[in-house]
Amino acid sequence: MKNRKLVMIPGPTPVVRTIQDQMARETVAFGDPKFVNDFKEVIADLREIWGTSGEVFVIAGSGSMSMEMAIANTLKAGDNLLIVSHGFFGDRFVGIAENKGINVDVMKAEWGKVFSAEDIETKLKEKHYHAITVTHVDTSTAAVAPIEEIGEMMKKFPDTIYIVDGVAATAGEREYVDKYNIDILFTASQKAFGVAPGLALLWASEKAMERRKSIGSIPEYYVDFDKWLPVMHDPSKYYATPAINLIWALQESIRIIKEEGIEARYEKHIDISKAMRAALIAMGFTILADEKNRATTLSCCLYPEGIDDLKFRTVLAEEGAQVAGGLGAYAGKMFRIGHMGNIDMLDMVGAISAIERTLYRMDIDVLGKGVEVLQRKLME
Ligand SMILES: *Cc1c(COP(=O)(O)O)cnc(C)c1O
Repeated sequence: MKNRKLVMIPGPTPVVRTIQDQMARETVAFGDPKFVNDFKEVIADLREIWGTSGEVFVIAGSGSMSMEMAIANTLKAGDNLLIVSHGFFGDRFVGIAENKGINVDVMKAEWGKVFSAEDIETKLKEKHYHAITVTHVDTSTAAVAPIEEIGEMMKKFPDTIYIVDGVAATAGEREYVDKYNIDILFTASQKAFGVAPGLALLWASEKAMERRKSIGSIPEYYVDFDKWLPVMHDPSKYYATPAINLIWALQESIRIIKEEGIEARYEKHIDISKAMRAALIAMGFTILADEKNRATTLSCCLYPEGIDDLKFRTVLAEEGAQVAGGLGAYAGKMFRIGHMGNIDMLDMVGAISAIERTLYRMDIDVLGKGVEVLQRKLME
């Protein structure tokens, strides 16, 4: 039977029709007064919903570019950076920083576990760090870091910039920039915002902006805060062409978020993740992350004995759902499924039932088990 393909990888996530419609609009000039106004609104909404008195940047690029933007604007060669890594994406900061001649120390968590604020505090007392990075949800492990507690602890280190990678978290996991004492938070459009890939979103606190000022000119050109700030304050100005249709798509995503309410959206992610995980466990999978630090945005599911990863994901795609494979040492041992952004009941039931049919075709008969648990949880 031919099936539609549900994109259940942890980004890009399903893009709903009203967001797709924005991308299909006739493109206008970047100076078009209506577009300028839309862009202004997007920036104002992002500032308000994520609660910062600092700045917001929305520029064309992927999440990795926003990682580079965070480092480029707060550190110079010879500075000390502490990378708190909870997996593959935490580790990515190492290369970005080392290319720039930054001295890097890495706290590497066992996959599925996260460091506490106390662990990080102990490390920060060893020497002066100009910045630390923490991945809120590392997409390789689906473990969620205690970024609020870490932010509270960071008040004891006023000269250290606190950078949070929110790429698999922002708009799904609770985050408040000023309240959590975050200096830089960033994400990309294709994860919990449910927009197609192509936009990088970054929040910078007043302290981060002061740091940018204090380091003078930087070698990077495209990602320089100083170059973009005039545009973010007045989007009729030109620096580099904005991704017009994606900004409209983001505006629609924000409209959806405002309509449901950001708190309700966070609660929805909690409910969805509990239901999805219960269903996955009922079908025989084991969740990688420790129970106390499981993300609301995606899950990493270890296969039961005897399931071949490639075959599982190939059959699952035929049954109508695409999931991602494990990374690093977990390649072949687990799959990763996104449950963030604008996914709905049909997506969830569709994905869980496709997994049931896949297992059935691999001689594991759990037909109906996952879907029953999922629906019971969601109807609670
Ligand atoms: C996806 C992801 C990135 C990288 O984003 P790209 O858009 O693929 O460049 C970085 N960090 C985390 C936590 C991610 O999930």
